[in-house]
Amino acid sequence: MKIKGLIFDFGFTLFEFKDASVEKYLNCYKEGLIKSVDELKRSNIIKNEQDAEFIIKTFNRKRAKYFKESFKTKTEHQTTEIFKEILEMLNIKNLNSKKYEELGDVYHSCEEEEWYPFEKTAETLKKLNKNKEIKLAVLSNHPHHATIEKLLIKYDLRKFFHAVVTSAEFGKRKPDPEIFHYTLKKMGLEGPDSCMICGDEYADIMGGYRAGLKTILIKRKYEFPYEKEIVGPEYITINNISEIMDYID
Ligand SMILES: [Mg+2]
Repeated sequence: MKIKGLIFDFGFTLFEFKDASVEKYLNCYKEGLIKSVDELKRSNIIKNEQDAEFIIKTFNRKRAKYFKESFKTKTEHQTTEIFKEILEMLNIKNLNSKKYEELGDVYHSCEEEEWYPFEKTAETLKKLNKNKEIKLAVLSNHPHHATIEKLLIKYDLRKFFHAVVTSAEFGKRKPDPEIFHYTLKKMGLEGPDSCMICGDEYADIMGGYRAGLKTILIKRKYEFPYEKEIVGPEYITINNISEIMDYID
């Protein structure tokens, strides 16, 4: 197939989460939140244990609520925004945007240490990049844009992509077709013709299909507890990212 644009999902498509399990995910977020609260204490933004407890409780409640709502609304609430909302509840309103960014970085720092590229990711991107007619992008449902950018830079993969889009930046999550159209635009492409999405789950395949892209499902070894079944669109299935080369001229 002649391809003009190829969009990759991030988690379990380009990168793998070390020893993935729900417990490990939750632990990472728990640890990240404690670190963020410690940062707030250290910089004297909060001064007592009561406020620290309030932040932890409210943050977890809000995140769970927003996540549940997003299945219907597809709206993404950035980590930085959640911190801002909660601190404002404590009447802390004079922080600059850099501080919220820092809190987001700290919150996701534990998770960041657990993501690393699949064995074949770099060599596949390198091969694809040799074809100057194909533009590449990353499209990730993630509430903190900087985490995805930093991970791509850490493993020297950022240079392969014309665009890196996250739901944090766009405000909507996959499978909303709008985020796919936005990504194509950022890649400098006019529409979904001759474009593909490669991802590991429902949101990638259904969203890509609705947006008019060709779809490739990469089979994940780790199974999510609440996997949503893909019904309707036809899609190609691969087991390893390197197999994508078989579908490109
Ligand atoms: Mg994924």
